[in-house]
Amino acid sequence: MQILGLILIVLVAVRVLQSIFFAWQSHINARRHVQLSLKMLNEQILSVQAQRKQIESLQMHWNGYRKFRVSKKVNEANNICSVYLVPHDGKPLPRYLPGQFVTFRFQMPDLQHDQARSVVRCYSLSDAPREQYYRITVKRVPTPTGTQHPPGVISNYIHDHVKIGDLLDLQAPRGDFALDPADCKPVVLIGGGVGLTPVLSIANAILEAGSDTDIWFFYGVRCGEDHAMRDHLLRLDQEYENFHLHVSYSCPSSNDQYGRDYHASGHIDIELIKKTVKVTNLDFYICGPAPMMDSLVSGLREWGVSDHHIHREAFGRATISNVSHSQKKPDQQTNLNQKTTFSIQFNRTNKNLTWDGTHSCLLDLALEAGINIDSGCRAGSCGSCEIAVKSGKVGTRIESGLSIDKGSCLACISYPKSELILDA
Ligand SMILES: Cc1cc2nc3c(=O)[nH]c(=O)nc-3n(C[C@H](O)[C@H](O)[C@H](O)COP(=O)(O)OP(=O)(O)OC[C@H]3O[C@@H](n4cnc5c(N)ncnc54)[C@H](O)[C@@H]3O)c2cc1C
Repeated sequence: MQILGLILIVLVAVRVLQSIFFAWQSHINARRHVQLSLKMLNEQILSVQAQRKQIESLQMHWNGYRKFRVSKKVNEANNICSVYLVPHDGKPLPRYLPGQFVTFRFQMPDLQHDQARSVVRCYSLSDAPREQYYRITVKRVPTPTGTQHPPGVISNYIHDHVKIGDLLDLQAPRGDFALDPADCKPVVLIGGGVGLTPVLSIANAILEAGSDTDIWFFYGVRCGEDHAMRDHLLRLDQEYENFHLHVSYSCPSSNDQYGRDYHASGHIDIELIKKTVKVTNLDFYICGPAPMMDSLVSGLREWGVSDHHIHREAFGRATISNVSHSQKKPDQQTNLNQKTTFSIQFNRTNKNLTWDGTHSCLLDLALEAGINIDSGCRAGSCGSCEIAVKSGKVGTRIESGLSIDKGSCLACISYPKSELILDA
């Protein structure tokens, strides 16, 4: 009897333990299920929030020019200043991708014709995207040594005349030299001189997004006097473990201290990049003078970095690269020199001109005949001179990294391959 009672107790205990186990297991499953559902819900919320931000941002974009007020002006180094701009209408700003630029239109006195003329210029946004303001950082462009040419019109105007409270006309940010900090892999950012601006915007954006992805930041300048954003870069270097700063001075002065102010003397070259970053499977963003960009792009290709991972920005004619943006060749220059003549019809202004190969591009042909086409970089980078080609074929002197509408051309780098009708 006692044994039977014992067996009964054991059986009951086993049953109880079984039920506890099943209850515990279903509790765990339910918890897992709830956790999974919460994770999915969270992902959905994030995706809806991202979509909403994108829609809001698109809604905030504007066409043409919008007035911005200068809210602050800061000296960053010798002949380099930053200008902070807030929207005059007080409405929110669309978010932009770090690395993008804005196009300005200035009304400048035209003393020859005793009237004002529009001058268009592009400037990269030099800070991480902000809701309150845009910031540009401008280098004063002097008369090229040994020439009689006038100094740079707009950069000098910004330095000498633009002041707090002034209103400036801006187009919405654009440009393909940009990075989305949300899907960011380790990057190598290389800025030469004032080419620092777009790569600084990218670095600031990645770090502010809280990403721990590695950033190798190379900045090349002549010497300490030209070293812009010095304190800011040093702070980033000290504060963030994933930010690796390398400053090169090509011509250090006696006041500049190796190790404190800069890490290498000479120009930034491929050997320095190889030695520092060591691996090729990174994204490279380069902006600076043409010789620097050309030598780095060639060096990176030889090292095995695919074109897909090499991004670069040209700041204008002087910084146009001799190295094609991709292995694909732009249309050959030879066509330009052929003595072929084509009739070019500008349908809006109702003018018929003849292309005889003496102009370097359609923009020059049009401007000389008094047809006003906006232009900025004259290097196929900014898109200001995009015009529709109503009929005919055009070629390009250099390949543009910019995506433009099908059926349009960038007048500053295009020439005719047949008779044309242009919408200008
Ligand atoms: C996408 C993009 C982003 C940019 N971002 C920045 C930026 O962040 N910061 C920045 O500082 N710049 C930037 N730039 C460059 C900027 O747009 C201007 O090109 C620059 O400020 C010079 O403009 P400017 O009006 O002062 O000079 P310009 O008046 O255009 O003169 C340019 C040079 O040509 C010389 N020149 C004048 N007349 C002649 C002539 N007849 N023949 C030969 N040469 C002559 C001038 O002396 C000067 O050296 C960017 C450009 C692009 C396309």
